[in-house]
Amino acid sequence: MPRHQHILAWLNDVAGDLHATRQDIHAHPELGFEENRTSALVARSLEEWGYEVHTGIGKTGVVGVLRNGSSTRRLGLRADMDALPIIENTGVAYSSRHEGCMHACGHDGHTAMLLGAARYLAATRQFDGILTLIFQPAEEGQGGAEAMLADGLLERFPCDALFGMHNMPGLPAGHLGFREGPMMASQDLLTVTLEGVGGHGSMPHLAVDPLVAAASVVMALQTVVARNIDAQQAAVVTVGALQAGEAANVIPQQAILRLSLRALNAEVRVQTLDRVRSIIESQAESFGCTSTIEHRPAYPVLVNHAAETEFARQVGVELVGADAVDGNTAKLMGSEDFAWMLQRCPGAYLFIGNGVAQPMVHNPAYDFNDDILLTGAAYWGALTESWLEPA
Ligand SMILES: [Zn+2]
Ligand SMILES: [Zn+2]
Repeated sequence: MPRHQHILAWLNDVAGDLHATRQDIHAHPELGFEENRTSALVARSLEEWGYEVHTGIGKTGVVGVLRNGSSTRRLGLRADMDALPIIENTGVAYSSRHEGCMHACGHDGHTAMLLGAARYLAATRQFDGILTLIFQPAEEGQGGAEAMLADGLLERFPCDALFGMHNMPGLPAGHLGFREGPMMASQDLLTVTLEGVGGHGSMPHLAVDPLVAAASVVMALQTVVARNIDAQQAAVVTVGALQAGEAANVIPQQAILRLSLRALNAEVRVQTLDRVRSIIESQAESFGCTSTIEHRPAYPVLVNHAAETEFARQVGVELVGADAVDGNTAKLMGSEDFAWMLQRCPGAYLFIGNGVAQPMVHNPAYDFNDDILLTGAAYWGALTESWLEPA
């Protein structure tokens, strides 16, 4: 029997439970920091299987600890639990029962895969060391990872390495993707207020029009990536919102812009941010407006550590075979708050294919592919038995 096949065989006997759990979570999605039902389900299951369970870490986060043998090696595995404010359009029988809320990013599957592994590892105990399972809330832009870290996650449950996994539509079902170094982008959120002097629409010479200034700012910002960033590097400057004015015959007092900036390394991130600030300030000034910029550094670049990535890739090859493993998977300009955890502890993030023809995550027709549940759970089992291999 090839290495790790015993894990798939064991999980296959409880496959029905795994599917039911995933679909139950899917039917009851909860937004960030409101994952009360989901975290109660997680805590109850872990307790039943013999884990030491800690709740309320990062508000609705749950940590389960399982010690086996005498080794002091420590491994942390992380899944996210939150859903999105999207109206579901999958037509599946287990569709969301919470109107306007949907598991459109597959965090239902991530939670179910880690629970499957938790059950297997507690029942079989073929590892030596300390296993910490992290079920985090609020991955979708609300800072759930930061909240858990602020609650002392890594001081209370120190780990030698941390791993996280996300499903990925477009990759063949059950294939695994790894990448050393930067894998997902940083994100900076900016709220810009341009202040002018409001007035009558027929007398612009007596007003200072922030709307015209805002339009010019939007156009000028398009030059940052095109003219300032090295063409071999990657950055995105998106103005996702521009709000100014209410009526055709009134020059507004204010214009508000909301920006999202992405980059794949720290220097490009700083350079992009500096250029964006400088263009906003000087453009505004040239139109006689004042500008204020509110900056929220939402996510750092997600950087996978070399040794941990190679270890994780090797386990992937042993589980699903070299043909189903990509060690050089594409970088994404999307962001992921596991990046905060990887800044504090070595580790790696990986993708598991959700199927080639599947809708992208955050689409109302997206659904986590239950066919990959076993592979994902078995991967966590295999990684644990390898990282915490008995002497
Ligand atoms: Zn998402
Ligand atoms: Zn996600």
